[in-house]
Amino acid sequence: MLRAFFIGRFQPCHLGHVEVLRSILREVDELVVGIGSAQESHTLDNPFTAGERMLMVSRVIDELLDEMVESGEVEKPRKVYIVPLEDIYRNSLWVSHVRSMVPPFSVVYSNNPLVIRLFREAGFEVKSTKLYRRFEYQGTEIRKKMLEGEEWKALVPACVVDVIEEIGGVERLREIANADR
Ligand code: NAD
Repeated sequence: MLRAFFIGRFQPCHLGHVEVLRSILREVDELVVGIGSAQESHTLDNPFTAGERMLMVSRVIDELLDEMVESGEVEKPRKVYIVPLEDIYRNSLWVSHVRSMVPPFSVVYSNNPLVIRLFREAGFEVKSTKLYRRFEYQGTEIRKKMLEGEEWKALVPACVVDVIEEIGGVERLREIANADR
């Protein structure tokens, strides 16, 4: 039984994350998804709370698994655990912190160089996926578009648009930006 770990900040969860999740879910039996920097919210870089991001990721995974089972891409639904994880101020201890907070796993998926480095140093097998339209499917770019009133909805799944609208996410981001000026 192969249980994997994948961590993201998901600020917000976008179509790049969806493609990474799809390729991981093809290969594993169970997946632990860490919601990183869980302590952060209401800032320009991290506007959404851990709970809001859990909602985004859990809706995305539900839809994705339904689609993958229906299309025959996987035979049965995968078990997915979503765990919020606060940052700690010592990178050298971070992997132990993560391991103490989530179900056990034997392989890590990441395209983030620091995450890859820290897990490899701790002896884990780390796999990377290809990058999906990295310049468009990128949290920084999507938050910038939200702030500047540009089209951002095509870059995230429809269920994430719903969550962001439900919580007034774009208005929050704009108010925070005004408070900073
Ligand atoms: P993110 O949401 O930006 O990305 C999540 C993952 O998806 C990454 O592996 C990223 O490379 C990948 N990805 C994003 N867009 C993609 C695309 N278009 N195509 C393919 N892959 C794509 O989150 P992140 O910033 O990488 O999350 C890492 C988390 O780990 C952060 O919260 C960070 O604070 C935490 N962390 C904490 C410590 C510590 O506390 N000391 C140390 C290391 C990492």
